[in-house]
Amino acid sequence: MNLTPSQLAGMVSAAVFVFVALAAWGLGLGWFEAFALGFVGSLSGFLSSTYLVKTFVSHQIHHILQTIKQTKATLANDQSTGLLSDPLGRVDEAVTRWSKEQNLKREEQERLERYRKEFLGNVSHELKTPIFNIQGYIHTLLDGAKDDPATNLAFLQKAARSADRMEALVKDLLTISELESGSVRMEWEDFDLHELLQDVLDSVDHKARGRGIQIEIKAGCEPPFGVHADRKKIRQVLVNLLSNSIHYGNDQGLTQVGVVDMGQQFLIEISDNGMGIEPEHLPRLFERFYRVDKGRSRSEGGTGLGLAIVKHMLEVHGQTIHVRSTAGMGSTFGFTLNKAHT
Ligand code: ADP
Repeated sequence: MNLTPSQLAGMVSAAVFVFVALAAWGLGLGWFEAFALGFVGSLSGFLSSTYLVKTFVSHQIHHILQTIKQTKATLANDQSTGLLSDPLGRVDEAVTRWSKEQNLKREEQERLERYRKEFLGNVSHELKTPIFNIQGYIHTLLDGAKDDPATNLAFLQKAARSADRMEALVKDLLTISELESGSVRMEWEDFDLHELLQDVLDSVDHKARGRGIQIEIKAGCEPPFGVHADRKKIRQVLVNLLSNSIHYGNDQGLTQVGVVDMGQQFLIEISDNGMGIEPEHLPRLFERFYRVDKGRSRSEGGTGLGLAIVKHMLEVHGQTIHVRSTAGMGSTFGFTLNKAHT
């Protein structure tokens, strides 16, 4: 039960009244004198208890509230005058809010701890395979395979592939950690996205040819596409999305890049007619190390970080990425970029 100082004083004065009046009547005074004495007693009881409560209790409570405030609990509308009206209620309110804040903080810490452990586990797991492979090939070579011309070159090539995979993973991890540190440096500039696209298409051409995949800019998209962005980061976004369209595309397939004028922005869409993605995977697709087809990702040299990097790189541009996909039919990844200022 929370009592205000006035309610407490009221109860004290009622008790004093009853006690003094009964005592006076018991001592033989008349009912009028007993009532008058009780009244005087209750008045002085009311005043003195109000004074005591307000002076001492509220003073102490004020200290408690200050201490809570120093622990950074937010005391909405905290005014010291309010303490006098319902001091215990306010302490109760402040402690409840403080404890809720502590619970939220603890939950957030637990979430971060879980996330850190999971991330460390994933990184160790991803590094373990190429390291074991390299170790295995080197030891086999040292144990004599180096003198066997039928196997030594193949073992060296396999070890080199594992080393390349490790390098790709470490590079992607460094990119992710830079993006997540929140201190990523942006190099904004106006440039023609069409030129950049041509450059990226040239760089992935060899990979695409290896699978007989044709990559083209959709008919009807009229360059130039002047955008305001960080060229290097957008290059990485395009490389990752186009590489995925090759890795998860069908042999002799088709990848199309569309650029649509949206007024203030361009919408860039990269579509393939490859294996597509089942709907249940779509919400988690941009998480680190999330893979739909683990075997295919690994055999294609995927790190499982490509789409997480794409998402982060677009977020630092203030943009988002979306995906539409039908299993067995293909996928479309799309994002927007602001138009150039000039
Ligand atoms: P990875 O290195 O495994 O390619 P990503 O982050 O780039 O990692 O992609 C995550 C997963 O999303 C891939 O493992 C793959 O299962 C799926 N994926 C990405 N792009 C496509 C695509 N164009 N078509 C089908 N699946 C895709």
